[in-house]
Amino acid sequence: MGAQPVVVLSDDSERTHGRDAQKMNIAAGKAVAEAVRTTLGPRGMDKMLVSDSGDVVITNDGATILNEMDIEHPAAQMIVEVAETQEDEVGDGTTTASVLAGQLLSEAEDLLEQDVHPTTVVEGYHEAARIAGEAIEAETLDADVDDDTLTEVAVTSMTGKGTGDVTTERLAEIVVNAIRSAGGDRDEVRVHTQTGASSSATELVQGVVLDEEPAHAAMPREAEDASVAVLDVELDVRESEIDAEYNVTSVDQLQTAIESEESELRGYADAIEAAGIDVVFNEDDIEDRVASHLADRGILAFDGLDSDDVSAILEATGASQLVSVDDIEADDLGTADHVRTARFGDDELAFVEGAEAENVTVFARGGTEHVVNELERALTDALDVASTALDTGQVVPGAGHTEIAIADRIRAEAASVSGRKQLAVEAFADALDILPRTLAENAGMDPIDALVDLRAAYEDGERAGLIVEGRTGAVRDPVEQGVLDPAAVKKEAVESAAEAATMIVRIDDVIAAN
Ligand code: ADP
Ligand code: MG
Repeated sequence: MGAQPVVVLSDDSERTHGRDAQKMNIAAGKAVAEAVRTTLGPRGMDKMLVSDSGDVVITNDGATILNEMDIEHPAAQMIVEVAETQEDEVGDGTTTASVLAGQLLSEAEDLLEQDVHPTTVVEGYHEAARIAGEAIEAETLDADVDDDTLTEVAVTSMTGKGTGDVTTERLAEIVVNAIRSAGGDRDEVRVHTQTGASSSATELVQGVVLDEEPAHAAMPREAEDASVAVLDVELDVRESEIDAEYNVTSVDQLQTAIESEESELRGYADAIEAAGIDVVFNEDDIEDRVASHLADRGILAFDGLDSDDVSAILEATGASQLVSVDDIEADDLGTADHVRTARFGDDELAFVEGAEAENVTVFARGGTEHVVNELERALTDALDVASTALDTGQVVPGAGHTEIAIADRIRAEAASVSGRKQLAVEAFADALDILPRTLAENAGMDPIDALVDLRAAYEDGERAGLIVEGRTGAVRDPVEQGVLDPAAVKKEAVESAAEAATMIVRIDDVIAAN
């Protein structure tokens, strides 16, 4: 009797094997990378993404595009993860990383076609990625990362982004001031967007900006040298005695119940006033009558704050968050030089300024939601690269120069790699060319000529990049032109692209449950 085949998969599941599986995955990964390719560099175009519900996002940011694209294919999803990792780790270079990952897949496909084993491809790519790391080290500029350098790094990351009518130089100045004011701590810098003015009105606020209005209309709108309390206390009757089940049998009893409730509510305001507090920030709610009592006492209060805002205020004012208003100690209170609210059209915002701590906010302005949102993405990238550059003290020339240098070093070292692995190492170098080539294409230059010129200059020992100016580009020294990227952005891009590509190449069996 012949053995019965053992069925381990349900009828619904789909299985793709061997080369078919590889081809399918590679095609999916490449397709995703191709989708963001036109956005790379200063002359990269924007994309308009429309969601199911009709929400529109206009952006040039690789990670944002891939996030919004609702990608389902698992291999394609891995490229999206490359962009996400890049965004989380260093905050910029998301397009670079995904385009490189796509090209590594494309080169891998050719190798597989020539019967190079997937494992050999993987080994070669790992070897090349290691050499790339060394090449990036070698390209790192010697000079200290000073404010001018930080400004250039910030400008480089924002060039070509939709930032409205404000110059990238002006924005970069604000970004560097912000990072410096925060003592280099990126976490202490927030970006707050507000429509209703042109983007040139973007400014640095020395403190925290909140999307909050006072808990009561009659409250003051301003407090100087304010004593600040941060609470997480529901300022409401603990348990409503009037709604409670027990019977109120006489008008007197009802009166007593109302009075005791009233006195409880007044009690909160009294306690806050007695502690000498000028401004209250409460994570929990403040009942209207309590808010009214606070207003009567000239106290400004905000309620229902989200936890991020609470953390920022705690840091900015030096307060500790309280869970009760009983026995408030002076130590638990914070201070702010100036708390005020301001109206912008229909919105009222609160500003907590001049605080002792280093928290600052880039207050980004723009004519419309789309403008401020894209400006926020550009500012976030710029803050990330400036703080990364400051942290690591390492920057490399941009505009494609570093990619040319990496490819050159990989090609030189490939010679000493034996067997077919050498082909894979060389393929990695070829894949890197996609980056300067795409910069050239997007700048309307001939990509082949541009690449030839770049390499020739590099071989002559010149530092050369494709500097994009106005409508076209020219081969110039990126350092002289102030086009600089943090070394960490390049390192992360090479590593995460190599990781995703090798992971995809290794797969030769896809089993999908339906
Ligand atoms: P990513 O998402 O990878 O950061 P970008 O669209 O921000 O993609 O493009 C980044 C690339 O553009 C970097 O390699 C950077 O060096 C380059 N770049 C920035 N400014 C210029 C410029 N003026 N000329 C040429 N290249 C530039
Ligand atoms: Mg960028």
